[in-house]
Amino acid sequence: MTHVFPRHTKATLPIATRGEGAYIIDAQGKRYLDGSGGAAVSCLGHSDEDVIGAIKDQLDQLAFAHTGFFTSHPAERLADRLIAHAPGTLDRVYFLSGGSEAVETALKMARQYFVEKGEPSRKHFIARRQSYHGNTLGALAAGGNEWRRAKFNPLLIDVSHIAPVHEYRWREDGESAEDYGLRVANELETEIQRLGAENVIAFIAEPVVGATMGAVPPVPGYFKRIREICDQYGILLILDEVMCGMGRTGTLFACEQDEIAPDIVTIAKGLGAGYQPIGATLCTSEIYDAFVQGSGFFQHGHTYIGHPTACAAADAVLTKLTEGGMVARSAAQGEKLDAALRAAFGEHPNIGDIRGRGMFRGLEIVADRATKAPFDPARALHKQIKGAAFEAGLICYPMGGTIDGQRGDHILLAPPFILSDDQIGELIDKLDTAIRSVL
Ligand code: PLP
Repeated sequence: MTHVFPRHTKATLPIATRGEGAYIIDAQGKRYLDGSGGAAVSCLGHSDEDVIGAIKDQLDQLAFAHTGFFTSHPAERLADRLIAHAPGTLDRVYFLSGGSEAVETALKMARQYFVEKGEPSRKHFIARRQSYHGNTLGALAAGGNEWRRAKFNPLLIDVSHIAPVHEYRWREDGESAEDYGLRVANELETEIQRLGAENVIAFIAEPVVGATMGAVPPVPGYFKRIREICDQYGILLILDEVMCGMGRTGTLFACEQDEIAPDIVTIAKGLGAGYQPIGATLCTSEIYDAFVQGSGFFQHGHTYIGHPTACAAADAVLTKLTEGGMVARSAAQGEKLDAALRAAFGEHPNIGDIRGRGMFRGLEIVADRATKAPFDPARALHKQIKGAAFEAGLICYPMGGTIDGQRGDHILLAPPFILSDDQIGELIDKLDTAIRSVL
């Protein structure tokens, strides 16, 4: 008998009792290789002594102080260090407890920025189809995944959704990657013109799409054109790096590889690496100054913003990622993981695409490689693969996405950056066992 309200009310889950490097161990002693960092969270594995030590030290000093009264050394230090590493002119950090809060904050910050500037007519956000930005109502409205939105649609603010970038699916025959990128980026311009630029607040997108499409990177030039359009029409660019940020793709911020900088960026999962719940919304000095020169008050906030213990944990994580070389390791081990995936599944009749960056990789499952047709959604292949992998002692993150209006399946891999070469082999073997048992 349990009183926990679980995600899946019909499932009985094992009890996780211990973490050891890249493994989670359950109450029966079974070891699971964490091939997806849960949901791209545990970038340093499950027993990093430096991060655990930093949390203990902070608890000995001060567990919590409410930001209505105090700031704290860990929050100040972490903000300074994040800004020192952040792209472009990002200058201020607003701390939250997770990804959805960070996105919700980004949306409200962007809206209030224009209110402070005397442009209250701006009320539209533009996002992309097949995206996920979180589960709170604002973030859910920004997301373009119909399955996640369906039950809540009547409660959601109106957000326009333009096409995502997915070269494997939608680049046309004879079209170069660059031309394809320009074609889809230009949909943003068309939508801004339709709504009237003076009514639009921001465009929000994940640089590398995670949960809904499975580690799909943009094509070269796409985000440069997006940045150009946002600047031309005076709307903000919000990048959601909740999943793909903090070294996951091989650079601290994923957008560094697209050579652009956002006006606002959200980070979360890898920021606390699972040791503490924490997220953050970073913005430029231009946005912050509008608040300073305007009302002087951001009409927002949560009890646990700037939590000192969570900030101390994230500060220790950041040290591991940067000075500790873990971002570089994500890039290096990610290349090896990619090569191993291609060697194992490159010719598989039901794996249509293998893609990603750093330790963020995706496999797309198709019924037919030639037509790229997905399997019948009724088979819920992603669930079968997840179950078979778990049985084999591997945690991976298969999802059913939407492809051209049909449901399709992909597997997302986001292992800890500490993964050894042998553990890459173990991951491939276990994934192969799971895929063979289902397909
Ligand atoms: N944004 C992106 C891109 C995500 O992938 C997620 C979670 O998967 C979120 C936001 C929401 O984060 P959280 O689950 O921490 O609320």
